[in-house]
Amino acid sequence: MTAEIIAVGSEMLTPQKTDTNSLWLTDQLNLLGVDVTQKSVIGDDQNRLAAAIAAALDRTPLILLTGGLGPTEDDLTREATAQALNRALIHDPAILHAIEQRFASFGRKMAPINKRQAFLVDGAEKLDNPNGTAPGQWLDFDGRMLALLPGPPGEMKPLFLSQVLPRLQAVLPPRVLRTRFFRVAGMGESDVDQLIAPAYKPYENPVTTILAAAGDIQIHLRSFSATEAEAEARVAELGAKIEALLGNRIYSRNGDPLETALGVLLRERKATLAVAESCTGGLLGGRITEAPGSSEWFLGGFQVYGRAMKTRLLGLDEKLVEKEGVVSEAVAIAMAESARDRTGATYALSVTGEAGPDSATPGIEPGTVWIGIATPDGVEAKLHRFPGNRARVRAFAVQSALNLLRLRL
Ligand code: ATP
Repeated sequence: MTAEIIAVGSEMLTPQKTDTNSLWLTDQLNLLGVDVTQKSVIGDDQNRLAAAIAAALDRTPLILLTGGLGPTEDDLTREATAQALNRALIHDPAILHAIEQRFASFGRKMAPINKRQAFLVDGAEKLDNPNGTAPGQWLDFDGRMLALLPGPPGEMKPLFLSQVLPRLQAVLPPRVLRTRFFRVAGMGESDVDQLIAPAYKPYENPVTTILAAAGDIQIHLRSFSATEAEAEARVAELGAKIEALLGNRIYSRNGDPLETALGVLLRERKATLAVAESCTGGLLGGRITEAPGSSEWFLGGFQVYGRAMKTRLLGLDEKLVEKEGVVSEAVAIAMAESARDRTGATYALSVTGEAGPDSATPGIEPGTVWIGIATPDGVEAKLHRFPGNRARVRAFAVQSALNLLRLRL
């Protein structure tokens, strides 16, 4: 089945408010196997809204509206729906009584404008809204279903779950969802896609989604089937193919971020880590300490952004820095080595590079980053050229440093 969502309210067209209801509803509908084919945001204009509802009803069997059920003049969802369906609005004394009771329970008297909320589109069922005054409405006719839901998320969500969801489940085939989730480091989005597309393209079920951040790719597999066993079998089959293709580039199967996955490896080995950071200015240490319990493996580090601090704090040879340049293999190696020596950590990572947008180092392109690693077996540095703006270059640098140690472990 397909659905459309219409978010109502002029405030949703301002830069201050975001239509988050439709995101939440889309997730709920997808879990039921319903695809959302169109979303609209319509201001408080009855004719526009009526036209949008009529057009949606022409092409889609399920329409969810949120917002515009309030008591004020600009809340027009009831009127617009009645107009689109060419039906009357019928006063419901029971709803009016319930609204009056709700106000009385707060020790207040209902304002006359709230009477507007006691009208149902002819033929609609009322959807009780225990968290607000305006009830929702449900219409089911000629193979079409239409739900009018309140706008405030705190009212809309419970109302959907308690009253719309059961109605949809009653008409939709049963569905069980099984998922697989992989996080991948050390590859770009297009490289990942090129590698795994031949595996997932032949499958309509599971559905494969790839999400990319700097140096961090997430692969979601979602399989829907009538039975748990079938959904699990489908997702396990494609999951195994993708795992075989990606191998150790997968760092997490449970959603944990890279710093947590790295922490697990360090803890297993009873090993410790220190860092020396130049162009990331503390971001690497910050990321490592985002993992709960990181004090077990992270000793700390050196934030040596300026040249002088590299010699003063880490004891780098001034002549070496002068000769090789701050952004160089030799300096990355010396930083990692010194961080390891000075902290007594099992491993040390270092980062020195040019994050941009302009180059502070003659001859060094923005995006050039050396990442050093010192281990009990020796020390080395790798050269990277990261794309994007300053924020992305620094995010890539942090991710690559964490991944370098992960692969080493
Ligand atoms: P009320 O009785 O509060 O007037 P309503 O059903 O008329 O309820 P609106 O007036 O349209 O709802 O919206 C009330 C508030 O709910 C908005 O100011 C906004 O904060 C929130 N809201 C409305 N629609 C959405 C949406 N699509 N996504 C997120 N929040 C929303």
